[in-house]
Amino acid sequence: KAKEAGRDRFALFDSHMNDELQDRKRIETELRHAIHNNEFVLYYQPQIDFETKAVIGAEALLRWQHPERGIVAPDLFLPIAETNRLINPIGNWVIEEACAFTNRINGAKSENFKVSINLSAVQFRSEGLQSFIMETMTKSGVTADQIELEITESMVITNVEDAIKTLRRFQSLGISVAIDDFGTGYSSMAYLKDFSANVLKIDRSFVSEANKRDENRKIIAGIISLGHSLGMQIVAEGVEDADQESLLQSLKCDFAQGYYYGRPMPEADFLTYLEERSSQT
Ligand code: C2E
Ligand code: MG
Ligand code: MG
Ligand code: MG
Repeated sequence: KAKEAGRDRFALFDSHMNDELQDRKRIETELRHAIHNNEFVLYYQPQIDFETKAVIGAEALLRWQHPERGIVAPDLFLPIAETNRLINPIGNWVIEEACAFTNRINGAKSENFKVSINLSAVQFRSEGLQSFIMETMTKSGVTADQIELEITESMVITNVEDAIKTLRRFQSLGISVAIDDFGTGYSSMAYLKDFSANVLKIDRSFVSEANKRDENRKIIAGIISLGHSLGMQIVAEGVEDADQESLLQSLKCDFAQGYYYGRPMPEADFLTYLEERSSQT
């Protein structure tokens, strides 16, 4: 079944090639070119404060601007990049570009604006990550409170002790860490108490079903109160309508992200979005 799904994904990516391995090789080669040819771009999706409705930050989401295929989503190429070390140069590029953006946007706006950066498992485990982030922040004039790192539960579970050490190092520098897609992995309540991330992002699968199934609403309520009692702030992912917004608001969720507020967009569009929103209020 998984293999079938994998085949479908590659078929989606390139319908006239049937050989999975050959597809992979080709994507690998193209990814190597993509790094040299600057074919990657970051899109930004707004994050909103439920209480004030202010845009408090953005998540940086990677896109591949393929010369023939157009915009390619990360789920179609990051898993391949993860398996052959290409993730390191790509991940470093993401950090550099996100920091440059953070500096541009904080220069343009007076308030403190936070940019969230997704890390892959390979990056999170790599020795040089911390110093690379520090160097990049210094070079681009970004302070620790202006960025946030997103990791997933599975990256924590595979080696809890090392993950805790890495997390503590970032937190001691003042960089906050978010657990992404919370509730979808092999969630363990045990790691939460030792891990003490700063932010929990409730996976959008719970949010999208929130008003359809009572159980989902209860799970969301539980995640929010558990997170709060452990001192974490809660982001709801994938908020798509006003009903979901009012439910999450009533459950005291802190921040929202989703198509209801804005899709991931290129930097220029994001700046326009910010202007339009601030002139509305
Ligand atoms: P994620 O970090 O959980 O990012 C949220 C995903 O949900 C994004 O998909 C976003 O476009 C989508 N989304 C946001 N709001 C809504 C909504 O209201 N409805 C629906 N249906 N979807 C919504 P995207 O951009 O395709 O990214 C997919 C995943 O790829 C990300 O999930 C993240 O795990 C990974 N990714 C993206 N950029 C990077 C990156 O720079 N580095 C790494 N390591 N992973 C990345
Ligand atoms: Mg994320
Ligand atoms: Mg997520
Ligand atoms: Mg995800």
